[in-house]
Amino acid sequence: MKKRFRVLFMSFGLSLYSFCSMATQFVPPHVLLRVEFQSLAHHRSKVVILNEEKEPIEIRIRQGLLSKLEVPDLKVRLNPQESQELLMSLNFASEAMTTIHLQSEITLLDQNLNVPGPGVFEVVKLTGSQAQRVSYSDAFLSRRLRPKDFALERNLFRPCNQEMCHDLFFETQPVSEDLDFMITPRSSLEESEPRSAQEVSSSAGQKKVQVRGRLFFKMTSRRYHSAEKMLVSAWVFRAGFWTKMGSSFVQSDGSWVISGLPQFLGLTTRVVYQSQNEFFSLNDPNHRPYAWSDSTYVLGENTQLGSRFIDLSLNGNLPGLDEVYLGALELWVKFQLNGISLARPSPIEVVFPNSLSTHECILTNNQGPYPWSCSYWGDGKIYIIPEHAHKSVIQHELAHSIHSFFWGGKMPQGAGGEHNLWECFHPGLALTEGFADFIAYWVQFERQAQDPHIDYFNMNLETLPQGVCPHAGSEMRVASTLWDIYDTHVDGSDSQKEFDHVMSEDPAASVKIFLGNPQDTMPEYLRVFQRELLLPHPEDLEHVFRLDKMLSSSFYLGFVFVADLSGVSSN
Ligand SMILES: [Zn+2]
Repeated sequence: MKKRFRVLFMSFGLSLYSFCSMATQFVPPHVLLRVEFQSLAHHRSKVVILNEEKEPIEIRIRQGLLSKLEVPDLKVRLNPQESQELLMSLNFASEAMTTIHLQSEITLLDQNLNVPGPGVFEVVKLTGSQAQRVSYSDAFLSRRLRPKDFALERNLFRPCNQEMCHDLFFETQPVSEDLDFMITPRSSLEESEPRSAQEVSSSAGQKKVQVRGRLFFKMTSRRYHSAEKMLVSAWVFRAGFWTKMGSSFVQSDGSWVISGLPQFLGLTTRVVYQSQNEFFSLNDPNHRPYAWSDSTYVLGENTQLGSRFIDLSLNGNLPGLDEVYLGALELWVKFQLNGISLARPSPIEVVFPNSLSTHECILTNNQGPYPWSCSYWGDGKIYIIPEHAHKSVIQHELAHSIHSFFWGGKMPQGAGGEHNLWECFHPGLALTEGFADFIAYWVQFERQAQDPHIDYFNMNLETLPQGVCPHAGSEMRVASTLWDIYDTHVDGSDSQKEFDHVMSEDPAASVKIFLGNPQDTMPEYLRVFQRELLLPHPEDLEHVFRLDKMLSSSFYLGFVFVADLSGVSSN
């Protein structure tokens, strides 16, 4: 109990300062993980691990999604403050630049608790036998091109107006027609097509010119995905200026079409693709949507550009961007299918990659400041570090942005601050984080899922590990309560006290009721859900809340303590 209070106190102290306006991605156990490059001639490097936790740990390290180098699995046991160096044989082959991405899993041995551990994301440049670290931005963003004929392209790319704010772009590449591609499952996003003012005002009956094509993301050498909801715009060059002919969004099968005025026939045209749509805008650290383009061509009556792809594979333009983009899209589709509109005045800005240079979402540990992933609830802006290029992270952060939008920016008392998946914190922080955790599971799993386990969280929401703090100050317990209202499983052993046979008719009930009824803690939602769900036996819900540890008496002791603290500290 003592330890829990210490954590509550610390977390609140932090939240008073830098965190009062944002939700940060959970922080893993305090274990330092670092790669050091030794003799490259002998393919030798080492991993340095230091256990800064107060209990012994076992850490398992494995290759992450974005690693270009094959990394062997490593496992080591460390006492508190003990460090160890593990030799790692890395085959750098002949590549001039490569990426090492490590993920880890930690067992906190005293608590017998298995949780996600720290990660490492390093881009390494080889010069002779020397290895030099490069930032994600220097490695990938610097590969963007300026238009070849800069004088000709001047007003297309610079100076930029609100809509065409990019002077740098990547190139797309043609795909063979026998492409085997994937689409977002059961997409129901409405097929809206923004059009230029000129096109709307063109007189009826006139024969238009059309340009059409298909756009895909290349994920690996064999895997493609439709680039659904990328913004496509076509520009024609006339009288020394680029004029926008029109724009549209890529459809779920990858196709897009833009039509324009007949007088554009025969003019030089350029098509630009941007990572931007009505719901989110995936931007570079200078807050500009990423842009791709291909060569110019002469506009015919019905111009077919064929199928082109954006290379997001590990050797491509922006590794990891596919996870962020498609993770956001998957969330959007799920909300849409469940009748929850995510329409907002402007798209949610997602900055990828976050780094120290943005000065946003920076945390500090014993080694100093480091960039992290966050969602700001004033404007919903999200920052994601490359190591977090995982769909569960973007879905979690988008959930925060959606939450703060629905609640008018007023988040629960105590929300914000450093947190993790297994300890207890302020119940307002747990409510906010637990909702965001739940959303990732809700998006990725149907309600009858037997095993709702997300690797990134390393937890099954149906059966949380024993060691997870059993109170309403635990975000994963909040998440599992929302899950038990969503799922169709009957679980729990004591049908008189702790039991789940609640089945809300609407699979989105937990989301809708949460977003529509602001409260400060999860236990307060008991009466809200009882009122809104119209269950034949309202007491069933109490059994669910007890099963998920929302109604344990010792929690209230902790809560009173925190409530007192917050009153004192915020003055
Ligand atoms: Zn969060």
